[in-house]
Amino acid sequence: MKVSKYNFIFPSGNRFILYNSVSDYMTQIESRLMDVYNQNEKDPDKINNIAPDFYQFLCDKGFLVNNEADETEDIITRWKEEDSSGQKLQITVNPTLNCNLNCWYCYEKHGKESRMSPQTQEALLLFLKKNVSKYQEIVISFFGGEPLLCYDDIIKPLLERIKEIKSGTQTVFSVHITTNATLLTPTMIDFFARWNTSFQITIDGNEFLHNLVKNLPDRSVSSYRIIINNIRKLLQQKLYVGIRFNYTAKTLPRFIDVLSDINHWTDEEKKYANISFHRIWQDNKVPFEEIKPVLSDAEEKCRQIGFYVNSHTSNTVRRCYADKDSSFVVNYDGSIYKCTARDFTEENKEGELLLDGSIAWNERYKKRQAVMYGKKECKNCIIFSLCRGGCSQSILENKNFSCIKGFTEEDKIKFIQQRILDIYKERHK
Ligand code: SF4
Ligand code: SF4
Repeated sequence: MKVSKYNFIFPSGNRFILYNSVSDYMTQIESRLMDVYNQNEKDPDKINNIAPDFYQFLCDKGFLVNNEADETEDIITRWKEEDSSGQKLQITVNPTLNCNLNCWYCYEKHGKESRMSPQTQEALLLFLKKNVSKYQEIVISFFGGEPLLCYDDIIKPLLERIKEIKSGTQTVFSVHITTNATLLTPTMIDFFARWNTSFQITIDGNEFLHNLVKNLPDRSVSSYRIIINNIRKLLQQKLYVGIRFNYTAKTLPRFIDVLSDINHWTDEEKKYANISFHRIWQDNKVPFEEIKPVLSDAEEKCRQIGFYVNSHTSNTVRRCYADKDSSFVVNYDGSIYKCTARDFTEENKEGELLLDGSIAWNERYKKRQAVMYGKKECKNCIIFSLCRGGCSQSILENKNFSCIKGFTEEDKIKFIQQRILDIYKERHK
């Protein structure tokens, strides 16, 4: 065996923290064992004679790897296997790009007439019929625009047809909806509860700030109150809700007021929620380093009142759905995309859903595939397994090579230290 090149060691009081960025496993070890490790780093099999249990532990947790292992290639192979394993297919459906609101930061052009035609719905159902048996799990994720504008004429009938496709198969279906939650009714909530549905719903600040962003035609009605009440109703139905706090440098400190509006929810309700903070992409004047302490403090306050928080740092280590081969977006007009964080334009399009239920991919998709598992320049990076060279969308947009995160070697070590801290918090939440 040999020592993994992705091991990191940090002193911690009279002990040491040992972390491996491929297995993402962190442990604390006594200095006696640390000495054994350090003294035998060149020939770690000797550890087996001195401390066999410790040796076995190091092998099991990926701190020691086979002599022949090419760890970087193994990381890529694992990602590819994940994609082709047939475990999970995620289809994001934009039934419309229209929306009943007009948030200032929204990057989409809301075509009022945009609506998925019956032909495109049939093509999508044909795609599912052809592919259902290949997957253990299929997630239908509704996005937009505001998808609930199409609840009666697209979402509900589509899901009822999908139920027919599902019957007689072993495939588990679930539904996810990214919605502003202003149109959600008790009838819809009952319907979605039958589909094991999870939600992503955004809050833009305290009631005053939020209503400035999400203003309803009748200004006397608070969209904030409607949304907060609807989130609670979903949680009461045991439906998972990702509560997304969209902030700017100015609005971030005011999220404390939101906490006083949701603090009194029961522990059972809070169990089904998770909170994550996201900076609005146009807000880039104040350097992130200046905001970070306020953000960490806000996240901590959410934890203190009993919510699970996806910390802004732990978000960075998950593979984005757009980087997975088994995930794509079907727009209302049958165009296929990979990323939902960019406008659904001709330029960003990656294929077409054909009437026979197949997908014709284009050149842009081929370009994405070439960088999907990281650029070759990133493969020597010590945090490659966590960063993957950034998401495929940012690699496509970053024409000249440089570290797209702008990281120095010191930044990478800080990144690892933050990851260790996050694992610690996750274990003790
Ligand atoms: S609610 Fe969502 S889709 Fe509608 S304008 Fe706001 S960000 Fe855009
Ligand atoms: S983008 Fe930067 S930090 Fe990420 S893997 Fe590449 S070189 Fe490393």
